[in-house]
Amino acid sequence: MKKAIILILITLVVFLSCNQKKVDLTCERIDYLIDVKTDVAKNYWTDFNRKTLFSPMLYYTKFRLYTINANEKLKNKIKIEPYNCCNSKVTIGFSKFIDTTNFYMNVSYEGVDSTALEYKNTLGMFSDVNLTEKFIPDVKDTEEWMSMVIHEMFHQYQRSFKKFRKEQQSSHRNFDRDTLNYFFKSKGWFNKSIKKENEILLEILEIRNSDSIKKYLKDYLATKEKRISKVKNEEGLEILDLENSLSKSEGTARYIEYCVKLTLKEKSNNNTLSEVDSKYQSNRFENYKLEQDKWMYNLGGGYYYSIGFNLTRVLEKLKIDYQKDIFSENKPFDSYLSEYL
Ligand SMILES: [Zn+2]
Repeated sequence: MKKAIILILITLVVFLSCNQKKVDLTCERIDYLIDVKTDVAKNYWTDFNRKTLFSPMLYYTKFRLYTINANEKLKNKIKIEPYNCCNSKVTIGFSKFIDTTNFYMNVSYEGVDSTALEYKNTLGMFSDVNLTEKFIPDVKDTEEWMSMVIHEMFHQYQRSFKKFRKEQQSSHRNFDRDTLNYFFKSKGWFNKSIKKENEILLEILEIRNSDSIKKYLKDYLATKEKRISKVKNEEGLEILDLENSLSKSEGTARYIEYCVKLTLKEKSNNNTLSEVDSKYQSNRFENYKLEQDKWMYNLGGGYYYSIGFNLTRVLEKLKIDYQKDIFSENKPFDSYLSEYL
């Protein structure tokens, strides 16, 4: 009985101190981030909610470094003080470490350099919205920034699958994405083929007739196969595994980034952030249409981002149940398409 009374008193004190506490911008942004991630998963990729977060995150601001769900390995690397965010679904801490000269928006793992924070520990790293704007002036608001962070959170989710991790590692063994970018920029025939492949995928996303869809799918697979074997014959490189791995990891993460905007479009305004976050724009994606983000589906930076994004949308359109094994069995996009034919 006595114990129960003490417990009730403690709960009451915590509750009152939480209620009296001034609203904290960092806590609010992190809580909203987790909240939106949870909604995106609920609506578009349920297994992404298997855990709130799949590995610890580092959140860089101009004043300090925050940690989210720090594990023992990270705690052994830096001194982390607890940071009290009331009612948060994640554990937030902070360190006095400051880095405003580098931009972070990535998931990192280091297998060799034992001085790195991410040594033998997958970490999501991201700069806050203010620092992000310093490096990418186009990103001016909390919601746009959040779509980028949730893209990274999805990479953390992908890395929770052993087969996916292994394949990602082995496909990067001999050369990396720069080689693919080089082919795309410097080899006319390669570039032409990729453009054709992307156009076919965009065409599939437009049409309804299932016979035509199958015709286009066959054309897509044949065009890709021809390009991959030409690289093999003329350059002596087998790029299939690397390209499949990149288009899958980046394409599905971009798809989730797009789903963040669709989710925010339907989500009601966050009144607390409206008051305390000068970077928060009320109803930012109220009238969102994918056409506003042509870079997502057109070819730009790395071609495998757009190709992978369009492939994911094709699988969605064809109602293929790919989410259940695309990472756990590490099945390539092309296998789902071949099975569909
Ligand atoms: Zn990415």
